[in-house]
Amino acid sequence: MTYKLPELPYAYDALEPYYDAETVRIHHDLHHKGYVDGLNNAVAKLAEAREAGDFALIKHWERELAFHGAGHILHSIFWENMSPNGGGNPKGTIAQQIEKDFGSFDAFKKHFSAATVAVEGSGWGLLVWNPYANKLEIMTAEKHQDLAIWGVVPLLVCDVWEHAYYLKYQNKRAAWVEAWWNIVNWDDVEAKFTKAK
Ligand code: MN
Repeated sequence: MTYKLPELPYAYDALEPYYDAETVRIHHDLHHKGYVDGLNNAVAKLAEAREAGDFALIKHWERELAFHGAGHILHSIFWENMSPNGGGNPKGTIAQQIEKDFGSFDAFKKHFSAATVAVEGSGWGLLVWNPYANKLEIMTAEKHQDLAIWGVVPLLVCDVWEHAYYLKYQNKRAAWVEAWWNIVNWDDVEAKFTKAK
């Protein structure tokens, strides 16, 4: 599958005067397109690596996948999150959930603004749904690629913190990962996949 740059859901100048047409054009047509191109390249290089059985550059291409993949998804969400008819207060179930989890819309807005302004260097402020706690959270991301793609749903995870294997495997992380394949519950992975789809 090849990733594509999504069309802007409005004209370049539709968000004026709050968001100027020239910035929107450069941001979408050049910056976002750069993420899409980089993502397709990383996907192709990883396929080549699997085919050749050569994982010498695996760290590099996984980082590229995370950087461009996160950039592509976050920008796609960013464009959809804005509208010429936007602003004001939320309505419906999101309004109720914000009130429940943050006390009030005003408190949420102050918290979100403060967190987003405080991001060191480049990054994002995000309102996210935590499906494990059934609760909204405000998060910040410095840059966006360390080392995950925002928006993905984890299906199978292997803990490689030393506490997960050190007593038995010491510094032999590869031996732990090799052993771990023998205890993977594929029925659970299948169930999580079905739920996510
Ligand atoms: Mn951007």
